[in-house]
Amino acid sequence: MACTRTLGRLSESAYDFIDEAYLHHLLEGQVDRRQVQEVLAKSLAKQPLDPEETAVLLKADDPELVEEILETARRLKREVYGNRIVLFAPLYVGNECVNDCQYCGFRRSNADQVRRTLTFEEIRRQVQALEDRGHKRLILVFGEHPRYSPSFIAECVRQVYATRSGRGEIRRVNINAAPLDHEGYRVVKAAGIGTYQVFQETYHRATYAEVHPPSTPKGDYFWRLDALARAMEAGCDDVGLGVLFGLYDWRFELLGLVCHARHLQKHYGCGPHTISFPRLQPAQGVTRQWPHRVSDGDFKRLVAILRLAVPYTGLILTARERPEIRREVMRFGVSQIDAGSRIELAGYTETADAQQMDREQFLLGDVRSLDEVIRELLREGDIPSFCTACYRLGRTGEHFMEFAIPGFIRDFCTPNALCTLMEYLQDYASPETRRLGQTVIQQELEKIPPSPRKQMLIDRLRRIAEDQERDVRF
Ligand code: SF4
Repeated sequence: MACTRTLGRLSESAYDFIDEAYLHHLLEGQVDRRQVQEVLAKSLAKQPLDPEETAVLLKADDPELVEEILETARRLKREVYGNRIVLFAPLYVGNECVNDCQYCGFRRSNADQVRRTLTFEEIRRQVQALEDRGHKRLILVFGEHPRYSPSFIAECVRQVYATRSGRGEIRRVNINAAPLDHEGYRVVKAAGIGTYQVFQETYHRATYAEVHPPSTPKGDYFWRLDALARAMEAGCDDVGLGVLFGLYDWRFELLGLVCHARHLQKHYGCGPHTISFPRLQPAQGVTRQWPHRVSDGDFKRLVAILRLAVPYTGLILTARERPEIRREVMRFGVSQIDAGSRIELAGYTETADAQQMDREQFLLGDVRSLDEVIRELLREGDIPSFCTACYRLGRTGEHFMEFAIPGFIRDFCTPNALCTLMEYLQDYASPETRRLGQTVIQQELEKIPPSPRKQMLIDRLRRIAEDQERDVRF
């Protein structure tokens, strides 16, 4: 029976599925090689792990076992996601916020932050700038404020889809915003969004209360924990989880993410579409020390263990991280990254190279252009992808999950990735990137055995390159 809170009606599956004492208990004690290898075998069979199994991997500190875990994650990444990396860009719409999160540059008590909400005209100008660089997938980001109502968010989404620049268009718009009630999600879903992201930030209640003042809407831990269950009940079947790593023990938080993913799978037949794992970064006016900061070494283990625990959930690595960390961590299971990102308000048209802390939520680690990131991916043998086919062909939520098992990636994702890459090479790439990209496309085609499907792919690539056709997909 759904109950209500001051902020609205909760979901039918609303109960506190984070048993802190049990999760801490799971992290106690030692594990041996046999236990670790049993769990790794289950992951390699592409079976999601439960919290108990995930804890076995989290407790494995022996360097040889850690390397075995990392290597298994690399292998699973190759087997499930191949060498595709999906690209997107963030677009910050407004940094007004009624909350006071102690780690955020947008917190209401930060008087030095330059507050701004883009007008629809300004949103269109940002989108044109992003389209002129070759982007096809965006995530719109909002503070929590009465101005950012569901109908405002929905209209922003419509503005983005309606904006064209030359051959440029945005084909998928995801949202990172405050938790909504059922009706709010329906309004936003009706505008055609892809994924709705709500990060719990931390699953540890005491830490949550410490960094999110109870007097603010975000202070309501349980309203936030239930947020994506409500979204799914309202028809938003692609949802995104996330934790801000560094607020509390990363092992505990990772177990929290696994519990959350299993809760959604159990009650809605579908786990999260994506999981994000941002690490704390410097933010304007934030001087406190964070004892749980995650080292680079632990960050690699974190991503690898997430990959092994939720084999079919997309893992998003953002430009918070430095290029060298991104380059390495991507091997362990990342499926999506942003590139050419600017997170200042109107940052795609009004800022020079230097970041402006008084206009952004945190400091970016990777400010390379989209073309630079694509070039590096190509050099590494990856296929940069702007694919949005599943979302636009209704292959979302549990329908997507069904497909994302045997052969789907090979028959749909890789061909679609190559088609969107060919579009980018034709319309936006620098000469060097174009040369590299055409070589990678040839190499990928040589890997595919002869078949009618391969012929269809070759035909589609030719139509993009010679007939100037766009948006051809499987
Ligand atoms: S983290 Fe989000 S909700 Fe918290 S202060 Fe920043 S913008 Fe507001």
